[in-house]
Amino acid sequence: MNELIVNLHMHTRYSDGHGTHAEIARAALQAGLDVVIVTDHNVWVNGPEDYYREGDKRVLLMVGEEIHDTTRDPQKNHMLVIGAGRELAPFAQNPQRLLEAVSQAGGVSFLAHPVELSAPAIHEPDISWVDWSVQGYTGIELWNEMSEFKSYLKTKLHAIYYTYNPKRVARGPVEGMLDKWNDLLAEGRRVVVIGGTDAHAFPVRLGPMHRVLYPYEFHFRTVNTHLFVPQPLTGEVGEDRRMILEAFRQGHAFIGYDLPASTQGFNFTAHGMDTTACMGDEVSAEKGITFQIHLPQPARPRPTECCLLRDGKLVKAWRDKPLITHIDTEPGVYRVEVYIVYLGKRRAWIFSNPIYVISGD
Ligand SMILES: [Zn+2]
Ligand SMILES: [Zn+2]
Repeated sequence: MNELIVNLHMHTRYSDGHGTHAEIARAALQAGLDVVIVTDHNVWVNGPEDYYREGDKRVLLMVGEEIHDTTRDPQKNHMLVIGAGRELAPFAQNPQRLLEAVSQAGGVSFLAHPVELSAPAIHEPDISWVDWSVQGYTGIELWNEMSEFKSYLKTKLHAIYYTYNPKRVARGPVEGMLDKWNDLLAEGRRVVVIGGTDAHAFPVRLGPMHRVLYPYEFHFRTVNTHLFVPQPLTGEVGEDRRMILEAFRQGHAFIGYDLPASTQGFNFTAHGMDTTACMGDEVSAEKGITFQIHLPQPARPRPTECCLLRDGKLVKAWRDKPLITHIDTEPGVYRVEVYIVYLGKRRAWIFSNPIYVISGD
């Protein structure tokens, strides 16, 4: 399997972002990404989807869309649509109909920032997902960096502090988000998780000072979705797009916060009698499962804690261990969370997608 570093969920001048597709591609090349996915609000921009190159580096820029119902107040139910290859914003008022249109078009869909509470200090409303009766979405955006940023802005002073200290912001998904995911999994759904930056490169003015809040390149070194594809990218857009969409659909992915230390090389697999399952897959519990967790080794040593969970509850935790094995016979939804100490705080570093262990009889 080949690992791709993907940064997704961002806006250009076509909606409320402040950069162009070409600027985003350049920032992505600088940050060393394999794929970058632009999702402007309610507009599918046909044209910029392509490989962008600089020297011997290349990045695939894909164009998706973030669709929400603009007639709602506040404007809730934001959905990330990737790979549909057409404008689907006209379906915004009916999320279920929209999901069906995405799947007919061969795309994947993720509920964006499903929990995003209001921030009165900066006059931002609650834009959480509300229509939980919908069926057929690929997954949810578990960690959205802008939702998290917003959740810390209790006063204007906090806004100034975090704007000037962006490395101190990220600690993990907003409160309630992991519970929401666990609840959805407990209903028996397969819910793929991704991490998004929601990059806008907002210019901010604080008195005489001008600053860009989270330049694209900064964001691209933070919360990434790491995808596993069966072949290396070919450089042919259509073929590579198909492979990437399939990896999203299968949940062959994990979320990595790459700023404290690169999460490249992480893996979580389950080995049964004669089968091997990777993240997103299903495996039978028959005669026991051996789980393996590989943790990347930070270039500078940093304390880590790796937690294996079954149905949202801790099975076991390990500290500072690069290679972990665990044998189990219980069916359930297994997943891994890893924490790292960075700038004096314990911060989320990795969220795996689940491995679904089903009963052997
Ligand atoms: Zn949104
Ligand atoms: Zn957005």
